[in-house]
Amino acid sequence: MSDLPPLSQATLAISAGRTNSGNSLAPALWASSTWESNGLDDAHHRATSVRHGDFYSRYANPTVQQFEHAIAELEGAEAALAFGSGMGAIAATVLALCSTGSHIVAQRQLYAGTLAFLQGPCQRFGIDVTFVDVATPGAFSDAVIPGKTMLVIAESPSNPRLELADLDELGSIRGPFTLVDSTFSTPLGQQPLAYGVDLSLHSATKGIAGHNDATLGVIAGEQELLDEIWAYAVLHGSTPSPFDALNALRGVRTLAVRTRQQNESARSLAVMLADHPACVGVHYPGLSEHPQHALASRQLLQYGTVLSFEVPDRTAAGSFLDAVAVARCATSLGGPETLVCHPATSTHASLTPDEQVATGISDGLIRVSVGLEETIDLLNDFEQALAKASAG
Ligand SMILES: *Cc1c(COP(=O)(O)O)cnc(C)c1O
Repeated sequence: MSDLPPLSQATLAISAGRTNSGNSLAPALWASSTWESNGLDDAHHRATSVRHGDFYSRYANPTVQQFEHAIAELEGAEAALAFGSGMGAIAATVLALCSTGSHIVAQRQLYAGTLAFLQGPCQRFGIDVTFVDVATPGAFSDAVIPGKTMLVIAESPSNPRLELADLDELGSIRGPFTLVDSTFSTPLGQQPLAYGVDLSLHSATKGIAGHNDATLGVIAGEQELLDEIWAYAVLHGSTPSPFDALNALRGVRTLAVRTRQQNESARSLAVMLADHPACVGVHYPGLSEHPQHALASRQLLQYGTVLSFEVPDRTAAGSFLDAVAVARCATSLGGPETLVCHPATSTHASLTPDEQVATGISDGLIRVSVGLEETIDLLNDFEQALAKASAG
């Protein structure tokens, strides 16, 4: 091995997370919630160790740890910590690092659950949040209040309009912890930690697990910071299921080939849509006309598996969703099936009309999670559905 140049991410994804399973090629499923101890000293050691894998599964579980090791390796991180969902990761991280009187800077363009958490429970607990525009240079750092801001939260590419946070800018912020929700790019699409960002977060429910059969979240970063978050997470209780960690680790093995295919189809769809008379706007960082294409080319290793586009109004959007025959109408993303949804009435239905306007969620906006169908079949499906949508 030592004579080889550094391995590519796709190859690392095959070897990562092979602890705790002996010589088995497939990861072992440790379904146990508890482990036997041998005498008081051993019991005390298990109960008081940080992230001891053989004590009680809310503290740590060997199958979950294999998944965590895999993600840490792909993110270039010292460690990773998994949760029962992406929201579990967000809620536990915020509550581990912030107290009443703390201040958070977050972008306005967020996954609706994250936004609702920052506006609801955080405000209720006296954690103040300043929302900024993700694409405005300097917006995050300008909103930091020295001594008071504990956390800066970015989501890049953002849901559902694929706007980017400048990772260089985030990584250079001193004082508060910085977190990037990197769900839309997966660990193979960008490496926030390499820019000096403290925490990279994923809803592993999406591209990482990749088959719509697991719900879990994960953060990656420095060991010491993760140990601190873990100490709170054990009490928060958003613990991942070992079954879901097993499915997610299986997803990691094929992440590179899946995202490669999905990226290729996403790009083809974006190019087709950009030229289509029934489509009034396309959002995909891989298009040269995307306002942040230069930034995308600098910091993204893959432009992404999700795009969004706009038809003139809600009626046309409804007709398009009714007309697709290969794509399916559902929320979520990163799975084998191409999914289309209308954010204004589904993923972002909890936003007020003003918030929808402020974040660009128009009545004609359609989000597409590109799946693993053959590209040509998706292009044909979108062509025929657009024809029906523009016929009214
Ligand atoms: C889905 C998603 C989440 C929440 O993850 P869950 O696993 O559904 O809890 C957070 N952020 C982004 C960007 C997401 O797409």
